[in-house]
Amino acid sequence: MSQGNSILDNVQWDADSGTITFKDVRYMLIRPDTVVDFQKAVEAEVGPEKCAEMMMAGGYTGGSRSSKRYKEVFNYTDEEIVAFMCKMGGEIGWGKFNVIKLDVPGKEFVVEVENSAFAAAYGEADWGVCHMIRGVMAGMAVGIFGGDVVSSETSCRSKGDDRCRFEIKG
Ligand SMILES: [Zn+2]
Repeated sequence: MSQGNSILDNVQWDADSGTITFKDVRYMLIRPDTVVDFQKAVEAEVGPEKCAEMMMAGGYTGGSRSSKRYKEVFNYTDEEIVAFMCKMGGEIGWGKFNVIKLDVPGKEFVVEVENSAFAAAYGEADWGVCHMIRGVMAGMAVGIFGGDVVSSETSCRSKGDDRCRFEIKG
């Protein structure tokens, strides 16, 4: 059974300008191994922890901007924007996102991701490698909780875990 993809079915492609947009936000398709090759090159230069911070920062900005933008476009509540962003994660091929816990007053958010594209491209590691997901989730959580958050990838497919798990606390 095929299922509609609310993102891909509504993407606008402009052949003249070579651009793809969703709700006026520009996107591009990129192979996960391209991102991961870059990640490994940066890790080799600055070490895995610093690289994680840098990739987190990129994801954070994207997550924060996207959640703000789509909250306005669709007039979503906090719960709805989390559900939308997690569904979108799957629709753009990052993996299958499952919201495990969302406690807005308690400022706690837990999401698990099956088949992370980042972990699949990376292969085995001694640490979590899905920093962009971690950052996107943190950026979204900041918009909802207000103030700073701590975002950790407590399980990762690359470490041999069944799935990746992200725990965000305000
Ligand atoms: Zn992971």
